[in-house]
Amino acid sequence: MTLVDTHAHLDFSQFDADRPSVIERAKATGVAAILNVGADLPSSQRAVALAEEYDCIYAAVGVHPHDAKKLDGAALAELRELAGHPKVVAVGEIGLDFYRDLSPRDVQRRAFQAQLAWAAKLGKPVIIHDRDAHDEVMDILADWAVGLKASPLDGRPGVLHTFSGDLAMAERAMDLGFFISISGPVTYQNARQLPGIVRMLPLTHLLVETDCPFLAPHPHRSKRNEPAYVRLVAERIAALRNIPLDDLAEATTANARRLFEWKVGN
Ligand SMILES: [Zn+2]
Repeated sequence: MTLVDTHAHLDFSQFDADRPSVIERAKATGVAAILNVGADLPSSQRAVALAEEYDCIYAAVGVHPHDAKKLDGAALAELRELAGHPKVVAVGEIGLDFYRDLSPRDVQRRAFQAQLAWAAKLGKPVIIHDRDAHDEVMDILADWAVGLKASPLDGRPGVLHTFSGDLAMAERAMDLGFFISISGPVTYQNARQLPGIVRMLPLTHLLVETDCPFLAPHPHRSKRNEPAYVRLVAERIAALRNIPLDDLAEATTANARRLFEWKVGN
């Protein structure tokens, strides 16, 4: 069985003491690839360094809405250069976060738009962070997707990571070609909307991730998360859909291969 973790932050300091053993545990659990996602310029640089150090790690580079105020022309130029690395498979994470509002909203919008335009030029899919900004994120993505027809991103524009919207939003996103990525909250005993949505989504557009060190699945909730725990997310989704774990693993790994065009799995 081959699993992939499509969203991890192994470069964060929470892993400084034991990063190699965290990666070993992931491999021992069947995790064949980990996408380490950048949150700002330094973490994007660290993501690329990790991808150089470990065969199983790939990188995404981009600036998170929290740090949108740090994205100036110089930072964008450096990100552009980093993105030329052969193991950079996506631009992210980018988007809008109106829950914490750590950057002003108009600054978040500008950084999001600038990075979307840049991803389209590069031909690399985007990893979307959306918190309490569902309608606006979807409107921006719908406008952006119009320009992708017959481009390398047609049918694989990106992924909504740690999906937190409703079924109508998931359907709108999938109509644009987006994948829907599910993380630890689907395992929580007080999860309300998400289990029902996960039962309804077509297997062709589903991905699994940890978002480690955050959002550890049950029974590790509120402790440090790590890529090996993506198996707990996958097990929960397989149980909700009443299918074997192997089938869920095979489908989500194939979806990630289609989206990121990396050489993982069969
Ligand atoms: Zn993240």
